[in-house]
Amino acid sequence: MGADALREIRGSVVWRGSDAYERTRRAMLWNAWKPDRFPELIVTVASRGDVVHAVRFARARGLRVAVRGGGHNWFGSPLRDGGMLVDLSGLRDVVIDPATRTARLSPAVSNRVLAAALAEHGFAFPAGHCGQVVVSGYLLAGGFGWNTRVWGPACRSVREVELVTADGELVRANEQDNAELFWAARGAGPGFFGVVTGYLVDLHPFRARSPRAATSTRSPMRRRSRTGRPTWATGFRRWSSRVSCSAPHHPG
Ligand SMILES: Cc1cc2nc3c(=O)[nH]c(=O)nc-3n(C[C@H](O)[C@H](O)[C@H](O)COP(=O)(O)OP(=O)(O)OC[C@H]3O[C@@H](n4cnc5c(N)ncnc54)[C@H](O)[C@@H]3O)c2cc1C
Repeated sequence: MGADALREIRGSVVWRGSDAYERTRRAMLWNAWKPDRFPELIVTVASRGDVVHAVRFARARGLRVAVRGGGHNWFGSPLRDGGMLVDLSGLRDVVIDPATRTARLSPAVSNRVLAAALAEHGFAFPAGHCGQVVVSGYLLAGGFGWNTRVWGPACRSVREVELVTADGELVRANEQDNAELFWAARGAGPGFFGVVTGYLVDLHPFRARSPRAATSTRSPMRRRSRTGRPTWATGFRRWSSRVSCSAPHHPG
């Protein structure tokens, strides 16, 4: 059953040796440094069901699994030799529930998209400073971002994670269920041993006097929008335009 699971995948499957392989492999990392590490196949999923199929296939074939959210890890950790790389970049949903002050985030939601979506509801979140970085590996690694000095690392605002285990089961982990997995998911970073397919996060009310970016002595979050009303998104946009988040050129 597991060996057939690849046929169920709606996303793309690119094997080493195929025409699209090198282009796909290089696109897995955000900057120009592409280490000489070559997965056997790269599965770009279209749904969390695809993740289940991919992991079951890998399990049946004895393949090791690596994961890519947005490819912003400084060491290019999504690229490993051999095995399967599961690319989550197609999972980008943001669902905000104002009543419970929570949001469900797919792994490849970027900080920019998140900031804009939350601003519409008057909420904020300790997202990372650069707009193009996604929540996937950022939250797993703890997350040091907006208002961290007040709200703590971003993982402190994670209420639940949804993940596919090494057995290929889709489970939820929170304080009550799968509590050990939940504990590990808040800080394990590249060492986490499941594939996170979604986060349920607590949101914070935006306040004009909201404190600062983790690395700043000034607070762009207190800037005002054109309407005169300060918004988190306005501050975020201005900050992002001042901080260089572009990929450095690799000379080699
Ligand atoms: C320009 C730039 C700005 C940054 N700004 C900040 C910042 O303000 N604050 C901060 O704290 N960090 C910041 N970082 C660091 C960034 O948060 C980490 O590099 C993080 O890993 C990026 O997430 P990603 O999904 O792109 O990781 P990827 O490179 O895709 O993945 C890295 C590793 O994390 C694991 N992983 C990722 N997603 C999953 C998943 N869904 N399930 C299981 N494992 C997974 C995998 O083991 C993978 O090898 C920045 C990095 C860059 C390059």
